[in-house]
Amino acid sequence: MKLFTKTFGCQMNFADSDEMARHFKKRGFVPTDDEATADAILVNTCTVRDLAEHKAVSFIGRLRDWKAAHPKNMIVVTGCAAERTKHEIKNRFPYIDLVVGAKDIEGFETELDDLLSRKSKFENRKSTLEPQPTSGQNLSFGFRAADLSPVVKYVTIMRGCNYSCSYCIVPSVRGREIYRPVAEILSDTAARVQEGAKEIWLLGQTVNSYRPNPAPFSGYDFADLLRDVAKTPGLERLRFISPHPYYLTPKLIQAMKETPQVCDHIHLPVQSGSNTMLQRMRRNYTRESYLDGIRALRQAIPSICITTDIIVGFPSETEDDYNETLSLVEEADFDSAYCFQYSPRPGTSAAALPDDVSQSVKEERVNRLLALTDGNGTRKARSLIGSEQTVLIEDDKGGGVFRGKTRNAWRLRIKNENLKIGDMVRVRVSSTHSRELHGEVI
Ligand code: SF4
Repeated sequence: MKLFTKTFGCQMNFADSDEMARHFKKRGFVPTDDEATADAILVNTCTVRDLAEHKAVSFIGRLRDWKAAHPKNMIVVTGCAAERTKHEIKNRFPYIDLVVGAKDIEGFETELDDLLSRKSKFENRKSTLEPQPTSGQNLSFGFRAADLSPVVKYVTIMRGCNYSCSYCIVPSVRGREIYRPVAEILSDTAARVQEGAKEIWLLGQTVNSYRPNPAPFSGYDFADLLRDVAKTPGLERLRFISPHPYYLTPKLIQAMKETPQVCDHIHLPVQSGSNTMLQRMRRNYTRESYLDGIRALRQAIPSICITTDIIVGFPSETEDDYNETLSLVEEADFDSAYCFQYSPRPGTSAAALPDDVSQSVKEERVNRLLALTDGNGTRKARSLIGSEQTVLIEDDKGGGVFRGKTRNAWRLRIKNENLKIGDMVRVRVSSTHSRELHGEVI
């Protein structure tokens, strides 16, 4: 039996897909890259942006003929768009066999077994293994998250979000925060390292709000977890995504500084430089407190690379608000930024606000912002020419060309026949191409 998996969206979704694929695997399925010959298709959807949801829905629509040709095969649709449009999606595509929303992922294994016992082609596939129990604030995932590369692996530490940013659909489709137990995170990390991982990414929607419950862990927080995960024998690099600026505490900065395995890179979404917009977005920090955090990071870790997310054209954003964003970008001196034009998402509180910044103004603002952030990134990349960097080789492009990352997250390309994935090499940067560095092994 073959399973084809199609995932849309963020790292959390890729990690979830991996978990669900593992449940299929326990029931005798093997993965395939060819949807035409698959017996089951798993579509893990995203709804963060209209386009992401549209792509997932289009993909499901294109499965109509596949299902008509193989009525005994099955289609399982999961994730955030499935959560948001559960009933609509079932009515629109009646050939879907199972819909499991993002909030119900802990019950996926049971739902899958129910479905398998109802489908004659699969009825003997029910797993003999009991599903993992879950309860309250602590969640036992029991899964291996998606791999970035054979030597770089994800470990999910929490799900959901306790914030309610006015533009964001995540809290309503993923629910409130639930934390994975510390012991499980540590044993999962150790297992990944034994399998060959040299770099681990801790994943969570607001990863640094991690607070395991209940006591005896009271007072234990993300900074403590970073220090503990870093002690994993054989682990060389540790990263995390996505932190929230509110939880960028002095304790966390200190842990980052004092833990050699923690890489000097942070992706810290700011969204706007205007306090008026931040308040309307319900971000729970100000321009001043965000910049204080950046200054503290740079003071503690001078080599740190800081990247961010920015939204332009949020309802009522004036030219003055936008200029505040431009000035924050200059002051923060970001290494790169993902810049988005605001578009309302149904189900968010901002969707009730008038979308009153015209499309042409949004485009003009995002283009000016991109020119600024890209220019900054290019300038920073060029400043690294001639420097020496430690690079973890993550990808073999063929023909003796390899790609890897520096500790502070710059992508670096090397031509050298003697390398292999997993090598940690010293490299001198010789040139740049956009934001990619090129270099030679020293
Ligand atoms: S912190 Fe805000 S933007 Fe991030 S997932 Fe939570 S609600 Fe969405």
